[in-house]
Order: sequence, then structure tokens, then C-alpha cells
Amino acid sequence: MSPILEDEAAQLAALFDGMAEGVVRQSADGAIVDCNRAAERILGLSRDQLMGRSSIDPRWRTIHPDGVVLSGADHPAMLALRTGAPVRDFLMGVERPDGEQRWISINVEPLIRAAGDAPYAVITTFRDVTHQRRTERALHDERQFLTAILGNLPGTMVAVFDEHLELRRTFGGAATTFDELVDADDGPELRAAARRCLSGETTQISARSGERLLELALVPLGTAEAALLIARDVSEREALRDRLSRQERLVTVGTLAAGVGHEINNPLQFVALSIEFGLRRIATLDPPPPVLGELAESLNEALRGLGRIREIVRGLKAFTRERPVARPVDLCAALEIAASMAAHEIKLVATLVLELGPVPPIVADDAQLSQIFVNLLVNAAQAFTTPDPTHNRIVCRSEVAADGRALVTVSDNGTGIDPTVLPRIFDPFFTTKAIGTGTGLGLSICHGIVSALGGEITCTSELGRGTTFRVALPVSDDELPAPRPAVRIRAPLRGRVVVIDDEVDVLDVLGRVLREEHELTMFSSAREALDHLLDAREAPEAVLCDLMMPYISGVELHARMLDRRPELARAFVFITGGSVDARSAELLSDATVRRLEKPFAADDVLDLVAEVVRDSRRRRSTAG
Ligand code: ADP
Repeated sequence: MSPILEDEAAQLAALFDGMAEGVVRQSADGAIVDCNRAAERILGLSRDQLMGRSSIDPRWRTIHPDGVVLSGADHPAMLALRTGAPVRDFLMGVERPDGEQRWISINVEPLIRAAGDAPYAVITTFRDVTHQRRTERALHDERQFLTAILGNLPGTMVAVFDEHLELRRTFGGAATTFDELVDADDGPELRAAARRCLSGETTQISARSGERLLELALVPLGTAEAALLIARDVSEREALRDRLSRQERLVTVGTLAAGVGHEINNPLQFVALSIEFGLRRIATLDPPPPVLGELAESLNEALRGLGRIREIVRGLKAFTRERPVARPVDLCAALEIAASMAAHEIKLVATLVLELGPVPPIVADDAQLSQIFVNLLVNAAQAFTTPDPTHNRIVCRSEVAADGRALVTVSDNGTGIDPTVLPRIFDPFFTTKAIGTGTGLGLSICHGIVSALGGEITCTSELGRGTTFRVALPVSDDELPAPRPAVRIRAPLRGRVVVIDDEVDVLDVLGRVLREEHELTMFSSAREALDHLLDAREAPEAVLCDLMMPYISGVELHARMLDRRPELARAFVFITGGSVDARSAELLSDATVRRLEKPFAADDVLDLVAEVVRDSRRRRSTAG
């Protein structure tokens, strides 16, 4: 060989070995007859190990990109030898002797002497694409992961839009255009926001999509050709916020209402007792002069009016945050009472059907419990446009629900409630009725009472067909208390009774009512009463005591008695007017402590005082 040729051969050999790509030459039977350094490095085999090894050698452990084993006969070199055609970018996994898996991308060039001949050899070149493949795999996994997240974000759609404002890729939503995404009214605003976003401004807008409310974020992607749109369905969140603010309003109104109720209670009490006293006096005259008979009638009328005020005040007190007196109550009895209280409103308008199935006792304040159903029944009666008891029906049912709670349904076939109004019916002061007919408080009071009892009140309605209210209440294992005797007989006891109330008007009227049956000593403060109670030679047999008084409160007086004269402490009856402090509430939660809730009737106070007097006498006779 000439020196020049020798030189060229050496240069070619250097080039061959210096290449980053692996190169092997294979003879017509597939055996390797030459290789470069890169081939040794990539395949993990020495030149000696490579030389002579054929593609179909069983030691090659090769796989397709999908993981399936690739047989030697299907290696790209063998394909090129068989077909005479070159092979391009053939991807194959090969396991090196050290166990490491490498991915190589292969090109094969068949060498042919004359057209139509089979190749006498092939040149196989390959690149190690392991790193690239791993990166691609990682990217692919990442993309799948993101797609899965984006497509499954609850209530969220993510999309890429382009400069023509077309949605290119969307995840988690069905809309394919802006017009499908939002209502026509909101379209122009969305498009304007999208254009601002393409020029680099992040924008947020709210838009409606039928019944749903969407919050849309438009986020630039650093190019004027595409940007990101994130649409979140916030209808539920808004509804929840609405409900919470309604709840808050209810609490505020409730606190106010409870305060007003409390203030009305005292004057209501002495007005009612004074009228009753007048009536009792008139009743002692037999026969009363005609003018007094008329007077008695009008006093009775006034008393009925006061009865209504008393019911309203009781309703307002249902708003107080403190727990009212809760005892096991017979739900059916409460429903019957409610039905008879509402009968006046119902009877000329509709037929009331009571289907009262037995239910376990409910722990509740019985007056409050009845009030829920009075409100529902009166509303039902007012749901008819024309009075027609043959067609108009109100059905009140009680039963045990599948979840074990007591369920009361009050249904009517009246006007029904407009769906736009339905979400607001439990709002305080929400009414669709004429001024003077509706206060808008009924259902919010019901809601307040039912929630405080751990229950639930819901309403379904169809315009023109009627309305159903469902009240579900937790039941109790406790037994119902023994019923009060129907006939109340009071023997003239002439008990020694002490009355303590800081409100002089109340004190006066209590005095007038009680003096007819007992010997009274009256005090307008606990301080004055204290000495008498501690010193009295003839111990009182009943102490009727206001709970909330300045200086020494009812609870404190009671505590001192417990200390010094425990037998007297048992003769206490507390007069309560609604809101009480924590200490009093604790004392009243003791079931053996007697209480008289304002507003009360003359019979209530006479009955209770007589009971205490009798108790004291019984105790004294057994002690003596
Ligand atoms: P009020 O009865 O004083 O209006 P409520 O809080 O009891 O206040 O009721 C609020 C509103 O709910 C009513 O004004 C009425 O529009 C609607 N409503 C309640 N019950 C019924 C019913 N049974 N049928 C039709 N509408 C009802």
C-alpha cells in the first residue's frame, strides 16, 4: 500500500473508532465482521466478543419497545439482508452482559454489488437513546398524571385556548367552545378577558352557565398564541355561603327577638293576672249584676287576646340560645294540641286529616314542639286561594322513619310554592302574604326549634299542586312522665307562702291571686326576704321567688337556704322569664327544682303553690 493510501486508511480507522455512533458490518449470514469502539461501549461487549457473533445468536437478549421479546431473525440487520431495503430508526432494547438495559435506535444500510442482487453485507449503525427514552417515558407518565388530575378535578374544567379564541385541549369538561361554556350574556366578557390574557394579563371573572355559577381564571402561558382557562363550578360554595349568612341572620334576629320576648313577658304577666283576678272576683258574685256580666265578657275577650300575645312571645323565646325545658314529650299529643290550636284557622277552609302513627318520645319543650306544627298547619290553611273543605286537604302524619327518627309530614294540596321563592321560605321576615297576615317568622321559628332539637325540616313543593313539609326529630329511650290529672281540685289550704319579686306590679298581682287561698308575706328583694326566711318561727311552706333579681339573685338565696335551712330550700318555686344566666340554668336543669315559666295563668301558680304547701306539710308530719 502506498504511503498516501496507508495514511487515508489510518484516518478512516481513526474516524471509525472516534464516532459516537456504534457501527458494525455484518456479512450476508448476519455475522459481525467489523465493529468500532462505540459499538463495544454501547453493547458492553469487547471487539473479540462481537466479532463473528451473528444477529441470530441466542445470547442477544433483545426486546421491542412494547416489552415483547425480539427474536434474532427479526433484528433490523436480518430484515435488511432479507429484503435488500434499508431500515431506518428501528428502536430496540438490548440487555448488556452486566444486566443493564440499553435502548438503541438502529439504521441499516444493505451493501449490494449489482441491481437485483441480494446484499452481500450490511452496515448497521446505532445510537444509545436510553437516556432520551427514559426522559420521554418520564414526560409521558407526567402527562398522563396531569391529564388524570386535570380531568378529574371536581367541578373544574381546564382548557388551552388559542389566538382565535378556540378551545384546543380540554380536561374535565364537555364544552368545546367559549359559547358552550358560558351563557350568551356572559360571552362578550369572557372573550374580552381571553384577549387580555393572550397579551399577558391574568384575569378572573364570574359567569353563569345555566343554573350553575362558574369562576373563570385566565392564565397567560408566555405566548400570544395560547393561554390557559380554568373554569370552576362554585354554585355549591355560593349556596353554602348563602345558607350560612341566612343562618347568621337568623341568629341575630333570634337574639333580638328573644330579648323583646323577655321584655314583653313581665307586663304581659301582670296584665293577664290582673284580668283573671277581676274575673274571679266577678265570679264570686252570684248572680252578678248585668253590667258586670258584660264586663266579664269583655275581660274574657281581652284574656283571649293576651293568650295570642302569649303564644307569640313563646314563639320568640324559641329563638333564645339557651335550651328551653326539655322533657320526654309524646309527639302525637303535641300534634293533637297543635291541630286543635290551628283548628280555628283550618276548619272553614280545608279538611284536616290526622294520621298519627305511634313514635317514641321526643326530648323537647312541649310548647315549642306544638308550636312547630301550629305554624306548619296554619301555613297550610293559608295555602288555599278559596275555602273549600271538600276539595282542600291538609294531611298531618307521624311515623318512625327508616333511619329511626320520628318523622312528621304536613302536606297540603294548596297553591304550592314558586321554585324561586322556595330557597327563602325559612328566612326570618320572608313572607309572600299581605301585611297583617304574615310576619315571615313562622318558618324561621320552626327551623330554629327543629335545629336546636338536632332535627331537620325540609320542604318540597309543586306550583298548583301543593306543599309538603317534613320534620325529622331524634327520638329518646326515656319514659313519658305520668299525665297530670284532668280535674284539678284545690282545697283552701291557707299555707304560709312567701313571695319575692323585684317587680312591684308582678308582686301586687301575685298577691291578689294567692291571698284568696294562702297567708302571704311579700318582699320586693331577696335581701329583705333573707332575714325573714332565716328567723321565721313559723317556717314558710312555699317560697315563690323570682330568679333574676339585683343584689341577691334567686339562685343565691336558694344556695344560702341550702346551707342554713335545707328543708326550706325544697319549698322554693322559681319564677323564670326566659333568658337566665349560666348559674341559674344549672340550678334549673335539676329536675327536682320547681319552676314557673312566665307568662303563666292564675291556675298554674295556684296549683303549683298548693302542691308545694302539701309537700311541706307531708314532710313535716313524717319528720315529726
Ligand atoms: P308567614 O306565614 O308569616 O308568611 P312563614 O315563615 O311561616 O311566614 O312562611 C314564609 C312563606 O313561605 C310564606 O309567606 C309563604 O309564601 C310560604 N309558605 C309556607 N308554607 C306554605 C305552604 N304550605 N304553601 C304555600 N306557601 C307556603
